[in-house]
Amino acid sequence: MIEKTLKSYFGYTHFRPLQEAVIRHILARKDALVLMPTGGGKSICYQLPALLMEGTAIVVSPLISLMKDQVESLQNNGIIARALNSGCDETTNANIRFECRQGRVKLLYISPERLLLETNYLLKDIKVSLFAIDEAHCISQWGHDFRPEYTQLNVLRRQFPDVPIVALTATADKITREDIVRQLELRDPQTFISSFDRPNLSLDVRRGYQQKEKLRTLFEFIRRHRGESGIVYCMSRNTTEKVAEKLEEQGIRTAVYHAGLSVRQRDEAQEDFINDRVQVVCATIAFGMGIDKSNVRWVVHYNLPKSIESYYQEIGRAGRDGLPSDTLLFYSIGDIVLLKKFAQESNQQDINEEKLRRMEQYAEADICRRRILLNYFGETTDHDCGNCDVCRNPPQRFDGTVIVQKALSGIARTGEQVGTRTLIDLLRGSVSQEVIEKGYDKLKTYGVGRDIPGRDWQDYLLQMLNLGYFEIAYNEGNRLKITEAGRKVLFGHERAELVVIRREERVVRTAGKKGKPAYTLVEPTLSPAFFEGEDPHLFEALRQLRKRLADQQAIPAYLVLSDKTLHQLATVRPVTLAAFGEVSGIGEFKKEKYGKDFLEVITQFVR
Ligand code: ADP
Ligand code: ZN
Repeated sequence: MIEKTLKSYFGYTHFRPLQEAVIRHILARKDALVLMPTGGGKSICYQLPALLMEGTAIVVSPLISLMKDQVESLQNNGIIARALNSGCDETTNANIRFECRQGRVKLLYISPERLLLETNYLLKDIKVSLFAIDEAHCISQWGHDFRPEYTQLNVLRRQFPDVPIVALTATADKITREDIVRQLELRDPQTFISSFDRPNLSLDVRRGYQQKEKLRTLFEFIRRHRGESGIVYCMSRNTTEKVAEKLEEQGIRTAVYHAGLSVRQRDEAQEDFINDRVQVVCATIAFGMGIDKSNVRWVVHYNLPKSIESYYQEIGRAGRDGLPSDTLLFYSIGDIVLLKKFAQESNQQDINEEKLRRMEQYAEADICRRRILLNYFGETTDHDCGNCDVCRNPPQRFDGTVIVQKALSGIARTGEQVGTRTLIDLLRGSVSQEVIEKGYDKLKTYGVGRDIPGRDWQDYLLQMLNLGYFEIAYNEGNRLKITEAGRKVLFGHERAELVVIRREERVVRTAGKKGKPAYTLVEPTLSPAFFEGEDPHLFEALRQLRKRLADQQAIPAYLVLSDKTLHQLATVRPVTLAAFGEVSGIGEFKKEKYGKDFLEVITQFVR
């Protein structure tokens, strides 16, 4: 029975882990707490019972944009759903209340403040099948999205003793979990915790890249994801704008999103992204909550995030539909310097420094990165993932004693007065203002590192920092100070191992420009979201049709059909309506509504 409902309304043939258990639990009218990662499939856990139970399910949701997306998605599956919030005018809201009283609405999304107003009115007049509290972590002051209205939701359990309550969140920590159960006064709730692993997200970290190389790598990365949506997270507002400008110069449609923009500008950027009018958003951490877009295919961190929690949440916005998606993290000494400063100035200095340290360890890892992430969230796995850069290309070490000694003696001879940039100038024998002014060009170490490109020095210095050979004096203009461990290497008492630097590009020498290397990039390959045997031209044609159909109805393209469904169509190439309806993600409603249009395009490619 419930499998049939899953296919006919949502188009899926199998449940994701835990979905079925949660659904059966709710159908038995019991309370539940559901913890699933972003993209884990929380919505179906309450949407499907709502369809099978008598009455209207009340879904509490903190953001209007989230409600809108969910309601459109449900309606596009032929399910009657409505949203009641302050964003609508009173006539619309009055109509919605009327429809609810008539018992026509299966799911009613409502903001918490509105819900509190309605408990004695609308909710008394209608039959409530269940309460779903979405983003339930908003109830906890410990969480990052605390909403005071959420703390009053305990009235539900008191006023509606017979209606099951299910709370759902992607934030799993224990304090928050206990807070939710306690504050909602859940009755003998069962907690469902699914794995937080997101195996479809590839993990990749690039260390010590300079500005130019970062940009070049980013362009190449986006080229590989031609036409596919993605987010570039930057540390500062300024950087989001600079990177966006560079992307625009490359012909990539890009929006900017940060807290310094007006609400209107931010909404516009978000809408443009959701509706595929721009391919990329360059954003600060302000961007993300309220984005339900299922076909974000990649996330890049242009700078190191401040904690593993933020990092995991941000990369989690990619690949909600379960298709392979790529993530890429750049990290440099400059990031660490800044983040360290922020942590020290914050009012939770110890905690924030520790979080940053864990983030650095992740970026420096020489074991499977996913194992580190899962372990951080309290899950252990017994195997390497095969989908991170460490698994694919295990780091190789070499005896780097001489390199370390050159760098450390450079620091020593300046009397530990330099930061990384000047140190590199000194080692490379460059003529920079500071080098000349301070007379560093007279030092014995001047130019001893000429054989190593500046960008490789960046990388080695970061490795040395993490190996503890020197420290950065944050309170002294970020000058480098040699540590005890560093002295041992400097004076030849211990050897130092460094990791071989790998670059993606092949280096070719171009004729005419002697000695000046030019970099050609590796051949662009197809995005990993493509299936084996798929026709990429057909996919493109289907995508264009989807965009047209979406624009006609003024809804986001991924609500017409998901990327996954499009890829499947371009692989299976069904030519009858029945075969079309078999494809995952196509339920009865979508089959009838869109079948003819899609079959027309597919037929052209099959002949
Ligand atoms: P969450 O709210 O946990 O972030 P969603 O409920 O938005 O996740 O689901 C993420 C994506 O996975 C959606 O595109 C949804 O349609 C899809 N999905 C959910 N359940 C299934 C399933 N059983 N089979 C295939 N896809 C599913
Ligand atoms: Zn791995």
